[in-house]
Amino acid sequence: MIYRPVPPTPIVAGLPVTVPFVAPEALQRQSGRVFRLRLGANESNFGPSPRAIEAMRAAVEQINWYADPEGYELREALAARHGVSPREMVFGSGIDDLLGLVVRTYLSPGETAVTSLGAYPTFNYHVNGYGGTLQRVPYRDDRNDLEALAAAAHEHHAKLVYLANPDNPTGSWYPAAQIRAFLDALPEACLLLLDEAYCDFAPEAEMLPMDASDPRLIRLRTFSKAYGMAGARIGYALGPTDMMGAFDRICLHFGINRVAQDGALAALADTAYLALVVGEVAQGREEYATLGRELGLAPLPSYTNFVTFDTGSPERAKALVAALAERAVFIRMPGAPPIDRCIRVTVGTAEERSVFAEVMRATVPTIPPDATTPRS
Ligand SMILES: *Cc1c(COP(=O)(O)O)cnc(C)c1O
Repeated sequence: MIYRPVPPTPIVAGLPVTVPFVAPEALQRQSGRVFRLRLGANESNFGPSPRAIEAMRAAVEQINWYADPEGYELREALAARHGVSPREMVFGSGIDDLLGLVVRTYLSPGETAVTSLGAYPTFNYHVNGYGGTLQRVPYRDDRNDLEALAAAAHEHHAKLVYLANPDNPTGSWYPAAQIRAFLDALPEACLLLLDEAYCDFAPEAEMLPMDASDPRLIRLRTFSKAYGMAGARIGYALGPTDMMGAFDRICLHFGINRVAQDGALAALADTAYLALVVGEVAQGREEYATLGRELGLAPLPSYTNFVTFDTGSPERAKALVAALAERAVFIRMPGAPPIDRCIRVTVGTAEERSVFAEVMRATVPTIPPDATTPRS
């Protein structure tokens, strides 16, 4: 008897092997060099709140127990924070997980989803994985082209539209009026997935007010960025009770671990620490912008914890990423035109920023605008 491998489903068999992100750990293994600066994944190098760390240490002692699948305490705290009902919420192991849940719940195989070309890639990964079809709309003026996204949603009868606001990798942001107009411009029965991973860094007064009852909209939040808990894997979606309830039929009920839940609860309460991080990041963005201007790399306006610099060409951007890696500095660059002429750098601590500035001053002149490879 010869046993053959059982083939995957046609959807999975038809997918390319894609890795949305090559992790810094993988790059380190390939190069045999440990990064001195880790500024490529928009993690918070300020770390979590000390109170969150303490809560997580305590939670480790109870790791023999399954966590509360309803995340009751955290749910109540978040509901109070956002002024929504606790039932207008679902937890996931990060926004990445929630994107998969939403696609699986709302996009049938063969249906179409719309996103920006070169936008945060995990959404695409799930759309492909669940057999959906993607329509991508190029960025315009280095930001999401809301008009073209809405037009594409109409043209292709899209069921889902993905928008990160503030955006990664451009750092751009739209205030409430424009998001509202965008929602109104979408086709009927089309759901807007608003990825607000960076909302803590945007001007709160101008943000789309919280109304989780709008059936056209699901908002995604995370503890990975401003709260500095990317490794804990916890995020949540906000939307109408019925729609959040639909996730209960398919979500992994014990997927959000005890350490993450307790850490998130403590982090949420430590508003002073969050304000400190947000303030420090704002200062770091200013420093990066100044550095970029000094070196002839125009900084794009940023409402996030990173700055995207215009290097002039994709070749130069690529050469800079490689040259910085040679100097043990991990950054990334957008993958699609027209923004693949940029590099994207996370705002680090004050000390990291000064090391970064030093490395940039030594590196950028070795890669002039017309060069595709370093000069020396
Ligand atoms: C970092 C990032 C995420 C990842 O969030 P997790 O909660 O860690 O999964 C999602 N969306 C955008 C736009 C991001 O930049």
